[in-house]
Amino acid sequence: MRRQVSLSTEQALQRESLPFREVTDLERNFLVEFGRIYAIPEARQSLARNFDDIFYRHEDGSYTQRPGLFEGEPLPDGRRFPGMSATYAPDVAPDDDVKTRFALSYLLSYQFGSAAKDRLFNFYGVVPEKGFPIYQAADIATVFKYEGPDALKLETFEFFSRGFSGPQNEAFFTRIYWDPSNNAWMTTIATPDEPDASGKHRIMACVDVLLDDLMKRTANPTLPGARATIFAADAEGTLIFDGKYTEAITTSAGAASISSLALADYQPLLKASQSIGPGSVSLVDSASEITAVGRIPDTPWVLAVHYPKSLMRPAILANLGIVIAVGLLTLFVELFILRSILQKQVAEPLVRLIHATQLVGRTGATVANDALPTHSDDEIGELARDFASMAARVHAAHEALEGKIRDRTSELERLNEKLLTISLTDEMTGVANRRRFDEVLANELAALGQSDDLLMLAMVDADWFKGYNDRYGHPAGDACLREIARVLERNTRSKQDLVARYGGEEFAVIARIASAANAPVIGQALCSGMAAVKLAHEGSPFGHVTLSVGIALATPDQNISRATLLLEADRALYRAKQTGRNQAIVAESFAATPGEQESGRL
Ligand code: GH3
Ligand code: MG
Ligand code: MG
Repeated sequence: MRRQVSLSTEQALQRESLPFREVTDLERNFLVEFGRIYAIPEARQSLARNFDDIFYRHEDGSYTQRPGLFEGEPLPDGRRFPGMSATYAPDVAPDDDVKTRFALSYLLSYQFGSAAKDRLFNFYGVVPEKGFPIYQAADIATVFKYEGPDALKLETFEFFSRGFSGPQNEAFFTRIYWDPSNNAWMTTIATPDEPDASGKHRIMACVDVLLDDLMKRTANPTLPGARATIFAADAEGTLIFDGKYTEAITTSAGAASISSLALADYQPLLKASQSIGPGSVSLVDSASEITAVGRIPDTPWVLAVHYPKSLMRPAILANLGIVIAVGLLTLFVELFILRSILQKQVAEPLVRLIHATQLVGRTGATVANDALPTHSDDEIGELARDFASMAARVHAAHEALEGKIRDRTSELERLNEKLLTISLTDEMTGVANRRRFDEVLANELAALGQSDDLLMLAMVDADWFKGYNDRYGHPAGDACLREIARVLERNTRSKQDLVARYGGEEFAVIARIASAANAPVIGQALCSGMAAVKLAHEGSPFGHVTLSVGIALATPDQNISRATLLLEADRALYRAKQTGRNQAIVAESFAATPGEQESGRL
């Protein structure tokens, strides 16, 4: 993992240095080109003339370029300079040399600036006499003022004062500054030319660079889980980008630094970066992270990639896995050797023990002590004695268990019976349910003919029951249904006959009867049984709850189906309802049977 942090940081250093190398190369080429042309006397003369073509003089002695050049309007000789603007506010009137350098800088700034148009921001070659021709990113180009409060005071800019303050001619970066028109941090990279014998510079090439892409990439390093920062390799460690200290950087206008914020944990990073060359990486350990630091080549900046140590644990765990695996392997080998030694001394007595164990395991039987090596006084003997007592306990437990199983079994049988009863009983009324009714009716019909008995099916329906519910409420209706069930049970033979709830407020009675003549009698008994209870029902013309009964009969010689029997009973019930209710009616075929009742109606 350390290697990975280091490698990915090295790659980032190379990648981030590329645009800056392009800028410094471009500036160097500008200066070379400037020097080459400036050395030609004829060129100098024509450039001094060009100065007057390009610039015009204000009354206060300052110069700006002719209006329209920025928009691309041509000079009389046809040359155009779109995107260029220039301001020149000299302290002393320009001589030919200053004019030459300013015009040359104007032409070259246009040439270099327009060539790098889409990649760089502004390109400008400044002369120390405060001449400032600039190729600008098109959208914000302005002609700078030379008077008033908005006047361009070049001497107040860091690049100007720093670049021309001494004889140095190395490229340098200014402190980062916020550019509100681009909503981005910028820096200016400037390279002054080599000074002449008197120590004077003639020109300085400058490029403004937008840093937003670099900062975006730094905020999201390629290494997952890492965080990156950039700070200057100066004495204070000025912060360039740090996700943690964005606010401090902004409020200090880019001046916040490792020193000013007293970032003790960054000090070692700054120190480490100073002892290695650009492009190489050094790893710094702290308690919680490892940090790879390195100078970005061609910049004065340090990139630091912080990687939390907590994320490194998986790698440690992987090594731990190998250690454990090797340990286990060694253990297995040792165990194998130990086993072959022990086998000889222990195997024989143990075989006896095992046989005894198997016997106990299979049958729970007790083991005779002489079947075991209980008499040897070594560990095996002790083991055998322990085993004998354990076998006795196992035997006892086995016995107890069997007793428990017997108890459990009979309990289960009782529960099963209960379940069966529940599944055949109507929960609300306690009489047989529809399922039981279907079953009994089928059985009874099948058994018909084994004796002379007839089978009677009576369908019983509460009268005006909807009205009862409406008047007394559903719970009272339920209570009434339970009362009906009790009346039916009271008026039938508890052993032989079946009272069932057929559905809703309808019940059914199945009974074997010796003669068809008994049927209307039984039916009538059911009706009067209910009427006798005198359960108040104000919605009924009878003033109390009554029942209607429809009866069908199956004779032993007749092969009647369940469906037909039910249909006949239903029809009889319908007639009982139609002709006044509170009565029992026997299906017509039987009611009309000679020698029996004239009519089922009672
Ligand atoms: P009829 O004399 O013609 O039989 O009139 P009815 O009002 O009894 O007949 P209907 O079939 O119109 O109404 C039956 C009523 O029985 C309607 C229903 O609300 C009621 N009912 C059915 N099952 C239950 C029950 O489990 N509890 C209660 N409380 N009422 C029920
Ligand atoms: Mg009904
Ligand atoms: Mg009814």
